[in-house]
Amino acid sequence: MMLEKEYRILVVDDAKDTQMLLEFDLSAAGYQVTCCDCGEDALESMETQEVDLILLDMYMPGLSGLETLARIKAQAISAEIPVIMLSASTDEDEVVAALELGAGDYVAKPYVAKVLLARMRTAIRLKEKTAQLEYLAKTDFLTGINNRGSFFELSNNAISLAKRAGQSLVVAMFDIDFFKQVNDNYGHDAGDQVLLAFSQGMIEVFRGYDIIGRVGGEEFAVCLPNTSRENANLACERFRNFIEQLSVRIISDNNVETEIHITVSIGLVLAQNDSLTIDELLKLADSALYYAKEHGRNQVVDAIILATTDESDNIVVSLMNTDEIDNNNLLQDSVIMTNFDGIDFDVGVSNVLGDEDLFKEILVMFYQDHHLDGDKLQSAIQEQDIDSVKHIAHTLKGVACSVGAMDLFEVTKALDIAVNDDKQEDFTRLFSQLSPEINRVMQGIKLQLDVS
Ligand code: GH3
Ligand code: MG
Ligand code: MG
Repeated sequence: MMLEKEYRILVVDDAKDTQMLLEFDLSAAGYQVTCCDCGEDALESMETQEVDLILLDMYMPGLSGLETLARIKAQAISAEIPVIMLSASTDEDEVVAALELGAGDYVAKPYVAKVLLARMRTAIRLKEKTAQLEYLAKTDFLTGINNRGSFFELSNNAISLAKRAGQSLVVAMFDIDFFKQVNDNYGHDAGDQVLLAFSQGMIEVFRGYDIIGRVGGEEFAVCLPNTSRENANLACERFRNFIEQLSVRIISDNNVETEIHITVSIGLVLAQNDSLTIDELLKLADSALYYAKEHGRNQVVDAIILATTDESDNIVVSLMNTDEIDNNNLLQDSVIMTNFDGIDFDVGVSNVLGDEDLFKEILVMFYQDHHLDGDKLQSAIQEQDIDSVKHIAHTLKGVACSVGAMDLFEVTKALDIAVNDDKQEDFTRLFSQLSPEINRVMQGIKLQLDVS
């Protein structure tokens, strides 16, 4: 019987004659054989060479067969390799112990070659079937990328790791725009081709260690470990652009070649609350995605624009229900947008649930309370009055975020962090970035509103 490929067998036995005999029989049957004299050598050799099956002697000096088996099953690189125990003894308790420790089978010595080979084939086939089933259980049938369950599992692991390592992580959600029309115009098979091309684009654009998955029919997601908000926005924008440029060629039923073009809407969120799960993060990303859909599609929206800050100035991105967003849109669409330099008006207005007049009043108060912050900060830095630097930077950071002054928010945040870490040498440099930004925002408000 021919083997499908040249499987690698590791023989672990202290008896040289058994080694030679096995090497002869197994090579003749088409296997590639490596021999080790003891358990220690076997464990070491598995670190450097791949093995498809292990034949393990029960009685050996040094590590016994059972001890070696326990170690094989305990380490990740070898745990899945099938092991067949070989022993001259027929002690039933030992056979049971071996099976309980994870041995796949047991063969008595002296072995009958035909029987041993049959059992080896079965063990290998079983291992391959299990791997195949595992693959199918985790993989999306159409695109070959992670399915929803697997995406959730891998992402939750990545979130725990990020938490432990203190690294930032971003989750993004993708929904193809007007995908129903692709099916309606070109047929369901063409739609499938588009989904496949879309997923291949994700593999191409995102990094090898980003976790990508198909989480719904024409909905995909990516979890970006060790990634800043800025870089995630850039990566998503790169992908949005990639999809916009993508042309999917299909041959229709009547043998005509057609090129299909699509666009994608993307919502993303930075994981910053320690206790968030992938479920919650995806919901937040989905809120941002919904916002993207409502504001013209084919764009990347960061959930930060739906954010407010809490009492301790932490950014809180909360789920908006769709009615609220719709109301905001109705209100926003009916007014002529005023241009405030350095302020994202959309963000500010949505933070007060669409009440534009209220937002303008808030801006006036913001101006009155903070337009001298630049001067105050400068003298506090000069006088090395750290408490005042801290107080001004911290307050300004929180307020900047709620009024949608996002650039100002970023630079005050950097200063706030430097104060907390007591990096005084950075103060002057950070202030030189902050000062023009404060002026820009304050001038913008002054130009538009009556702040006297
Ligand atoms: P929007 O821009 O608002 O997202 O519009 P849309 O048409 O993309 O959204 P909608 O949710 O109305 O339609 C999604 C479509 O995706 C409907 C469904 O038939 C199609 N779809 C879902 N899964 C598959 C699939 O596996 N293959 C194909 N060809 N189509 C699918
Ligand atoms: Mg959809
Ligand atoms: Mg869609």
